Amino acid sequence: MYDLAREQCPTMDHLYQIAGLTLDAGFDSLGLYLEHRYAYPSTPWSHGRGILTPEMVDRLQSEFPSLRIIPFINLLGHFEGMLYTEPGKKYHEDLFTGMQACPSKDEFLGLCERIIDDTVRTFRSDIIHIGGDETWQLGSCPICKDKVESVPEGQDGKAKLYGEHFGPLAELVQKKGRRPAVWGDMYLQHPDALNAMPKETLIFDWQYFNGLKESAPTFTQAGFDVVGCPAIQTYNATWMHMEASEKNVLEVLRDVRDMDLYGVCVTTWECGLFGSYDTLYPAIEACGAYSQPNSDLAPGLFQQKYDEAGNGKWANQMSAALAECGGTFKPGRIRSSLKVRLLLNSNPFLAWLHHGEELAGEVGFDALAVFEKAMALGPGDAEKGITLFGRSAVEFVRIVEEAKILYAQGRAEAAITKLALTRRLFDDLAKVAERTTARCGGSLADAERCRIAKEHVERVIQRIRQYGDGSLGYLPAFEVITHPKFVPHDQACWWLINRWANQ
Ligand SMILES: [Zn+2]
Repeated sequence: MYDLAREQCPTMDHLYQIAGLTLDAGFDSLGLYLEHRYAYPSTPWSHGRGILTPEMVDRLQSEFPSLRIIPFINLLGHFEGMLYTEPGKKYHEDLFTGMQACPSKDEFLGLCERIIDDTVRTFRSDIIHIGGDETWQLGSCPICKDKVESVPEGQDGKAKLYGEHFGPLAELVQKKGRRPAVWGDMYLQHPDALNAMPKETLIFDWQYFNGLKESAPTFTQAGFDVVGCPAIQTYNATWMHMEASEKNVLEVLRDVRDMDLYGVCVTTWECGLFGSYDTLYPAIEACGAYSQPNSDLAPGLFQQKYDEAGNGKWANQMSAALAECGGTFKPGRIRSSLKVRLLLNSNPFLAWLHHGEELAGEVGFDALAVFEKAMALGPGDAEKGITLFGRSAVEFVRIVEEAKILYAQGRAEAAITKLALTRRLFDDLAKVAERTTARCGGSLADAERCRIAKEHVERVIQRIRQYGDGSLGYLPAFEVITHPKFVPHDQACWWLINRWANQ
């Protein structure tokens, strides 16, 4: 499954390449995870640049008639790409918070039906995936809250609210002659919601750190077919955790075989924030080989496929060797903190605030050595770009740490000289992002993130020039003067103290 929703903007050539790779790897289907990145004719207001269009899907289906191209649309949770537009904000569960639409709004139900219509009109797949994961805001707005609380004692009000939303939508998919599919996570939390679903609904049980033994029986015992979903772990890594990804894929595959489940969907997520789909192709090939009936499920195929592609040594540095550096590089379960803090929050100094000590020390030193080796080993632009991102992140944090010390010593000019060095890092990263977009349809936002980061560094340099000599009568803490919300003369930082600070 290809995650288009995280700002990807593939051309037809990129799509052909991915579809070809999917077939060659031995898969019979390609999932396109869409969210707001598909040009639904009903939502002309949501069509961002580089979006997948119905015409592109038509061409892809004609070119690859033997490949089932399954659309993944999201009809409650992960609706954020719609909710944060001016015309789409009216569907919110909570305004300017979270990623869920409100299942009690008739106008949202109408929109869901139109999105299903738009989808079945173009996609020929017998399976239509209507989403449903991570709807953590169930029962948040006053109307939904009332519904959730009005069920008889002992019943699960959220299960009722959720089931009454998805049951009819799944039936609508059936009426159109297709098989509905949904994510399994919310049914694991609210099993009663399964009662509302047609029995033909296919449940995609995603388990990225465990197998399916704990979860899948909930569905099979209720009479549902289950697709096991492991993940290539990119979102929680500087590049990808190869060993953890392979372990997850193998565990899920074994459970699918042992429990005789319907199938497997290998998910890939979040190649925004300096991911690059073309560096994942060997992993996809390994997953395809593992997924064949009676294949040997012994570990090692990921490394072998990268070796065959000529970037095995680079891949090993960027996964196993980098993980050994520890700290932020250790395989974790949430989005890579270094990626998020350097670029996602429009304030690169957050990376220093949270990782300054760690990356100025041994972890950063070791990681720079790994990036140095990887840079020499990376055979192509894709590998070098990701390596440059990792190296730049560590270098930025280390330079800022030095600037902090100079600033505290009253050496404002010296601190400025240090910080000025980092502008070049963001210029170079913006070029990497642009090349990734051209090469494999990567994120359009990444280059903008780099520009915003550089602008903020320049703003901080100005502030230090102006106030670093104590001209305010006090020297703002380095954490304060580097923060986007810094206000001169607000010595007490009310922007931070006020309990509505982030609203
Ligand atoms: Zn609501």
